[in-house]
Amino acid sequence: MAVKPKRTYKYGEQPIRITTVQVVAEQFGGAATANQVDDYLRGLFPHYKDDTRLNLIVNTVNCNRSYWSFNKTARRTDDVTHRHNQYDRLFKRGNTFEIYQPSMHGVWELYQDLQDKWCYRQVRSQFEEAVEAAAKLPPSERKQILEAESKTPELTVVTTRVYKRSPYVVAEVLLRANGKCQSCKHDAPFVKEDGTPFLEVHHIEWLSKGGEDSVENAIALCPNCHRQAHYGVLELVTVNKQD
Ligand SMILES: [Zn+2]
Ligand SMILES: [Zn+2]
Repeated sequence: MAVKPKRTYKYGEQPIRITTVQVVAEQFGGAATANQVDDYLRGLFPHYKDDTRLNLIVNTVNCNRSYWSFNKTARRTDDVTHRHNQYDRLFKRGNTFEIYQPSMHGVWELYQDLQDKWCYRQVRSQFEEAVEAAAKLPPSERKQILEAESKTPELTVVTTRVYKRSPYVVAEVLLRANGKCQSCKHDAPFVKEDGTPFLEVHHIEWLSKGGEDSVENAIALCPNCHRQAHYGVLELVTVNKQD
């Protein structure tokens, strides 16, 4: 029987794009910049000359990575049986690549848009999908279900992972806003019990999409603008420049 020739790789025993993820996980505790990984790999392989950043991006769920043929295949990151699921390993936040965790970073998908361009997006929650399906039912059917359904909501225990936000960023941005929404410029809609104006600090690039928890990436918004930023279209630019 013929023995399959052993594949050789430029660096180590496996493709370098797999090694780069391992370095993030094992050498840097799950989060590293491309420069850090680059330095490490150059120390590991004397002849190392490769694009570390691209080797990271190929595995990153919230980056445009359709340059690679195996990312030109529609899939969700929660489909662990997909043959290319192994490339859904990282999440990019600012300059840092962290090990991707669906419970923390959400479920993402690769899909083709109407112009056949390969794109990525966060998958909507099961609840949002259920609301849409319920809205599409004929009214009589929906009425029937509403009547039959128990009015006492079921209790369920969930584990949520949340980003630990800096109270310094929130305090600093609220002080700079000085009681006015930094988008529509209107006064806060009401004052809180303690007499301070009610505004909400929002991240221009969402934390869940990789944004940084910094003063520059934060903006104080009135509740209307805030909801619009999340559910409508609202163009937001940095107003809180770090000095
Ligand atoms: Zn506003
Ligand atoms: Zn927000």
